[in-house]
Amino acid sequence: MKWNKSFSQIYENGVVGECPYCGSADTDYIYWEKKNGRGSLNVWCNSCGECVHADCGFIPKNRKCVNLGEEFEPQRKASTLLRTLRTG
Ligand SMILES: [Zn+2]
Repeated sequence: MKWNKSFSQIYENGVVGECPYCGSADTDYIYWEKKNGRGSLNVWCNSCGECVHADCGFIPKNRKCVNLGEEFEPQRKASTLLRTLRTG
């Protein structure tokens, strides 16, 4: 898939790099840790709105990560995170 290069860059050094759709550098990512250091990953472009969600297995240390914990409530956690992002 188009985001594959970004996936490996995020895994290796926490950098998304250019959007594979529009070339913008205004991209970002977040890991969602479920438990035992495993989880999933969202990557998106703030310019064109392209985004992707993928299971990622183990999450590297020192990455932007939301710990969902044992009580996995994705919708509540996601809306809290979005509010945080919007209000800075
Ligand atoms: Zn883009």
